[in-house]
Amino acid sequence: MRSAPYDRSIPLIHTSATRHATVFAALLMAFALALLGVAVPVRIDAQTASRNQSNLLIYIIDVEGGQATLLVSPSGSSLLVDTGWPGNDGRDAQRIQAAMKDAGISKISKVLITHFHTDHVGGVPELVKRVEVGEFLDHGINREDSDITRKDTAAYLKAIQGKPRRVLHPGDRIEIPGLNTTVLTADGEHVHSVAGTKLVPNPYCATEPKWELDGTENPRSVGILVRFGAFSFLDLGDLTKPKEIALVCPNNPIGTVDLYLVTHHGFNLSNTRSIVDAIHPRVAIMDNGAHKAGSPEAWQTVHESPGLEDLYMLHTAEGSDAAHNSPEAMIANPKGGGDGAYFKVIARTDGSFSVTNSRTGQTKNYAHQ
Ligand SMILES: [Zn+2]
Repeated sequence: MRSAPYDRSIPLIHTSATRHATVFAALLMAFALALLGVAVPVRIDAQTASRNQSNLLIYIIDVEGGQATLLVSPSGSSLLVDTGWPGNDGRDAQRIQAAMKDAGISKISKVLITHFHTDHVGGVPELVKRVEVGEFLDHGINREDSDITRKDTAAYLKAIQGKPRRVLHPGDRIEIPGLNTTVLTADGEHVHSVAGTKLVPNPYCATEPKWELDGTENPRSVGILVRFGAFSFLDLGDLTKPKEIALVCPNNPIGTVDLYLVTHHGFNLSNTRSIVDAIHPRVAIMDNGAHKAGSPEAWQTVHESPGLEDLYMLHTAEGSDAAHNSPEAMIANPKGGGDGAYFKVIARTDGSFSVTNSRTGQTKNYAHQ
C-alpha cells in the first residue's frame, strides 16, 4: 500500500530568509539562462532546503507495531534503529524512505538491529534493495529457538552479505558525527556506568517485584542512549523487565532522559516502574500498532512517571480503553492501520525539542529547562 500521508509535508519549521534567497537565486539563474535560450528544469527540493544544519532529527516511523526509528545528525549522518516487518510490498522500506526524503538524506550511515525478531530485522532485505547502507550493527548471534527467528536471521545475514557489519557490546560507542551514542545493553549484558553520567541509587528498585526471564530474543535487545548536547534519547528495543531492572538497579547509570521510546511497543512485559520512573522522561513516544502492544498497564506506568509532559502513540491501542489511550492529537494514526503517519522530533543542543505529528501537521515545543 502506498503511504499517501508522506506526500503531505510537515509544515516547514525552518522556513528562513536563507531558503527564500536560495529559491530566488535559482529562479534568477533560470531566467538568465532562458534569455540565452538554454532550457533548464528548475526544481527546488523543499525538503532538503528545509533541513536545519544544527538540529538532530528523530523520526518515529510507523511500521504497524514494529520498530523503525531514524536519527539524522546535523552533519547528515544517520542511524536507523530497526527496519520494520518483511513483506507488504516493501511498505516499511517505503515509509523509511519517506522519512529519509523529509530529512533530505539519500543513504543511511548505519542500521542498528536491536534483536532478531521479524518486526525489527524483517525489513532489511527490502531496505537494502532500495537504500545504500554504510554499516550494519547487531548483537551477534540469534539466541531464540524458533523457526521464524531463524528464518529472519538467515534472510538478514544473506541480505547484508559482503557489507560491513559490527557486533555491539555494552559500553561500545556508535560513531555518528555530532551524536554521543552509547550501547547500554546487548545480547543480555548491560553497562554498569556511562561516561559523563553520575551513577545514582535508584529508589524505585525497593518495591520492584521479581520477573521471570524469557528465552526469546527480546532480553537480548541492543539498547542505546543518544546524547546531543543537553538533549538525550533512550531506545531499549524490546528489552523485557528482568533486564530493565538489571540495567538500573540498584544504581541507575542512565540518569534522566528527555525523550523515551516506550520499550517493546508498550507491552506490559517491559516498562517496569523502576526504569520508567528513574529515567524521568519529559516526553514518551510509543511505537505500538492498532492491535499490537499498547498494554493498559504499560501505558499507565509511562503516563504516571514523574515529570512526564506528554505520551504520544503511533496508533490508538484498539484493544485498550479510552482511559489508557492518549488524546487524539497525540496519536499519529488514530483510526486503525495503513496510514503510516509518523512523529518527527527536532532536538537542539540546549535540550529543547519539538514533536510534530505528520497527520495533523501540529508541532508542540518543549522548551529548554
Ligand atoms: Zn518488537
